[in-house]
Amino acid sequence: MNVIEHFFIGWCIASASSALDRRERLIITTAAVIPDIDGLGMLVEIPTRNTNHPLLWWTDYHHILAHNIGFAVVVTAVAFAMAKRRALTSTLTAIAFHSHILGDLAGARGPDGYQWPIPYFLPFSRTPELSWDGQWPLNGWQNFVITGISLVITFYVAWSRGYSPLGYLSERADRALVETLRRRFPQRSAA
Ligand SMILES: [Zn+2]
Repeated sequence: MNVIEHFFIGWCIASASSALDRRERLIITTAAVIPDIDGLGMLVEIPTRNTNHPLLWWTDYHHILAHNIGFAVVVTAVAFAMAKRRALTSTLTAIAFHSHILGDLAGARGPDGYQWPIPYFLPFSRTPELSWDGQWPLNGWQNFVITGISLVITFYVAWSRGYSPLGYLSERADRALVETLRRRFPQRSAA
């Protein structure tokens, strides 16, 4: 799955409890995206690919460095350290992280048919590498459906609780979104 899809799934997981604050929601949402940090090697690989000294950091490290149980433990521990509601935040962080792993296993077949198997048990063991026969392509309709559902949930949360991920970019835009939604779909017991 791509970063946007992981992001909205993470946001839905972060919205599972209304007890969390803004920062805790951001921690959880970030955990759903952060494994793809090991894909940044692409920025080095593409410009050097056809040179005499290609640096194949994307080919060599994507799905290796950060799509594993070792990194999951690190991310969950950081969430625990940074949150006020430690147990809840770190639990949802672990779930969000694994939503990324599952999302990649389910729907990230490359255009060339490559499955990008995931050596999940690193750094403890290189095997088994996880992959799934039923995996659909990165641009498969299933990913669009899942993203559509997570957007509907995101709008519902914005409408009912009064915040959305937009708030991390602009408080004003976030308020405008919430007001628009509430004008369009008036709340029955507006308090
Ligand atoms: Zn990934």
